[in-house]
Formats: sequence, C-alpha cells, structure tokens
Amino acid sequence: MKLATFEDDKGKRLGIVKGDMLIDLSAFDPTFPTDMITYLSHGDTTGRKAKQANREVEATIPLSSVTLHAPVEDPRKIFCVGLNYADHVAETGRDKPENATWFTKPPTAIVGHDANVLKPAVSDMIDYEAELVVIIGHRCRHIAPEDALNAVAGYCCGNDVSVRDWQFRSPQFTIGKSFDTHGPIGPWLTTRDEIADPHALTIECRVNGAVRQKSNTEHLIFKIEHLIAELSAVMTLEPGDVIFTGTPSGVGVAMKPPQFLKAGDTVEVEIAGLGTLSNQMVTEDVTPYVK
Ligand code: ZN
Repeated sequence: MKLATFEDDKGKRLGIVKGDMLIDLSAFDPTFPTDMITYLSHGDTTGRKAKQANREVEATIPLSSVTLHAPVEDPRKIFCVGLNYADHVAETGRDKPENATWFTKPPTAIVGHDANVLKPAVSDMIDYEAELVVIIGHRCRHIAPEDALNAVAGYCCGNDVSVRDWQFRSPQFTIGKSFDTHGPIGPWLTTRDEIADPHALTIECRVNGAVRQKSNTEHLIFKIEHLIAELSAVMTLEPGDVIFTGTPSGVGVAMKPPQFLKAGDTVEVEIAGLGTLSNQMVTEDVTPYVK
C-alpha cells in the first residue's frame, strides 16, 4: 500500500494512494487514526483495516485536490548516514568509512511533498541529497541484521538538504543538516511488502528538470539491515522513526564549479516504486519572534 498523510477542507488524515486518486481511511472508518505514528503504533489492527479498505473501497479523492504532508509528520527520532555510497565517498575525497557516519536532524526539519524548502539567510551554500528513507514500524531493541527488516513499516523518498558551510565548520555535520524544512520526505510511505528488495532501486535527483544524481540503492555501503541493527544496539526504535540512508554522487558542492540551490529552484527526488518527491526553494523570512 501507499499510505499518505493528506489534508483538505475536512482536515488532516490518512489515505491510500491508488494511481492519481486517494481512499479516505477516515471515511471508511471514522475511528481510524488520523496520523501515521498512531496508525503504526496500533500494529496489525489498523494494518488489517487499511488492507480491507484497500481491497473494498473505491478511491474517490483526486490527489490533485489535496495537500500531501510528510507521511510521518512529527517523528521522535531522525537519524541520517553520511558517506554511504562509494561514489559519493570518492567525490568528497574521504576514505571509505569503517563505521556508519551517523548524524541527526530535528523534527522541525521535516516537510512533505510540494512544501517549500527555505533558503536560509545565513548561507548561500545550500545543497540537495537524494536518499532512500526508511520508516520504522515496530518498537524494537537489540535486533540482529537478519531480523531488522521486520521492524520496517516502509520506505519513501527523502532529500537531506545540507547547508555546506555550516556542515563543515566543525567535525560534527548535524548543525548544517538541521535547518527548518531541510528534511523533506514523501510523497507517501510505500509499505515494505511492496518493495521486494530495497537494495535494488534506481534513485535520481533533478534540479529544475536537469539530472544531478543517478544511482541505485545496490551501492549502499552499509545496508538497511546493518543500519537498523546498529541503531537498535544503542536505543529503542519506535514507530515513525525515520532513517535517511545516505546519498550517491552528484551533489552540488562536488561539481566543478560548485552549484548550489537558489530561491526558485525545484528539486525532485525519484526512487523506483516510491514516487517522486518535489520541493521548491524559497527565501526564508527572518522576522524574529518569541511566542
Ligand atoms: Zn545525506
């Protein structure tokens, strides 16, 4: 199934994407959870109900008539891996890492398909990173790599938007990866059962229609099973947690000369079977406020 968080004049809720139409899960069952984390936390009960709707209900809402939000809007954890494609490691001039290079993003970075990504006033070095994103579906801890995919709810496209000067001004990437809106995910969550092999997906990034990154998830250095097992050795993973798995070569900072994103640019991330995540760059409003 392709599970979307969407909004129209009846409010925000969950739906199943069928082509260019949606099934409204709240119309099917008014008690159905209206956010993805609650949905995932209910495990098989809601999962079975969604599958029933998927079989029995006609999709009646055109996708074009709704706003798609991030499939998981307020994840409790967002972990990202730097340097996880050999070709990208080569273009950065670094050595192939012995361990996954983990960093995080805050929940305030998350936005959905078609949302604005803010070009910060403090930098002109804004870059894209097309990434396969994993959404955790089950609370888990201490799981072995061979069991790790059982914890996965599904997958979506992600853009690990990066402010390169802030990223590289200290040995820790996190601050340059944490600007508001710099973690678009979407356009929806494709459930794990629809993706036979998450390490065999073409992945592409386009800026204003021009292809900048083109690769395949088969080139991931640290596979999804490894990433989940490693995180679960450290912490409890919970439904809705988000893992950005790293980006292939072709980032703007490695181009000669470097090409950074500007206000007005459109960035698309397309992964086979997961749809296309599109976002436009706009200049941020820097009016200070305390509320
Ligand atoms: Zn990245």
